[in-house]
Amino acid sequence: MPSSIVELRSDTFTTPTTAMLAAMVGAPLGDDVYGEDPTVARLEERSADLLGKEAGCLMPSGTMANLAAIMAHAPRGTGVLAARDSDIYAYEAHGVSVLGGLALHPVETDEHGRPRPDSLLAALPEDADDPQFAVPAVVCVENTANRAGGVALTAAELATVADFATAHGMRFHLDGARIFNAAVALGVDPAELVRRADSVQFCLSKGLSAPIGSVVVGSADFVAAVRRLRKMLGGGMRQAGVLAAAGLVALDTGIDRLSEDHANARALAEGLAGVPGVEVDPVRVRTNMVRFRLIGSPLTHAALIELAAREGVRLAELGRGTLRAVTHRGVDAADVSRAVSTIAAIVREHSPVAV
Ligand SMILES: *Cc1c(COP(=O)(O)O)cnc(C)c1O
Repeated sequence: MPSSIVELRSDTFTTPTTAMLAAMVGAPLGDDVYGEDPTVARLEERSADLLGKEAGCLMPSGTMANLAAIMAHAPRGTGVLAARDSDIYAYEAHGVSVLGGLALHPVETDEHGRPRPDSLLAALPEDADDPQFAVPAVVCVENTANRAGGVALTAAELATVADFATAHGMRFHLDGARIFNAAVALGVDPAELVRRADSVQFCLSKGLSAPIGSVVVGSADFVAAVRRLRKMLGGGMRQAGVLAAAGLVALDTGIDRLSEDHANARALAEGLAGVPGVEVDPVRVRTNMVRFRLIGSPLTHAALIELAAREGVRLAELGRGTLRAVTHRGVDAADVSRAVSTIAAIVREHSPVAV
């Protein structure tokens, strides 16, 4: 077995930094269900500030953050529009339907992860006054768009969705699990990027490398509703300052360095582009994800994942016939080279016999 692992399955595998662990030990704490944890309060204010919103609420996970935000926007019996490829539609067990009483309408996206206007329109009821139809109350967009390969949608692209939401009396929720990756890749102020969104959730636990937590931001009234829903869903946390302390360090030290992850992802894609039998488009790699596939190889994706894992290189299947590699704080340039040479060797060894 190789002595070290190159973990490319997800940026969720990042572990807290030494500075985070030190901050967790020293953090002033209180009971946050009573609203008395000063470290949580600081993180919530800092998050709201960074994203230009009035208030924030710390959540145990991105899944609960999306659920509470959507429930706060949308009364039971209304509906939610979310990309078929999105986390909200594909990976959250349809919580908004099961727990929120909301119809979940899948929206088709183009290859860049942008909701297709015709698909947004198709989700609208023919006649909002006709009691036969459920009326959607919120539209969700993911940025970066994970299954599109970590695409960073621009403020202008998000404005198109915001205009659609406004025109049809809907709220706009941004699943910004990796919103800082998007802002860094685009070179824009995160607050400017999310300006048209009514609410945003972002994950502290992905590339920012905090151990646990997401934050929902939005207007003060909206965040008050989210706070009640968080308690209802079982997400009220007592001395949550231990998590918030790591989250504050993540915001202080984790955002600017995301450009390193993006450079490593680009290098990985460029390396893989030189491997016969691997199809990848390095130009499209702007954030920390590389989407690639095998062509003309007898290897299945599952077999490549298994063989690479034996060599200590961990990859993930993304579905739709693609593989995914995600860079993060735990992956450096040497790891990228090792991943490329490992994948190249496996593909070469299993290449069809030359004629
Ligand atoms: C990870 C992720 C979530 C969910 O976050 P958890 O903390 O894993 O529940 C939501 N949306 C997107 C786009 C994600 O990548």
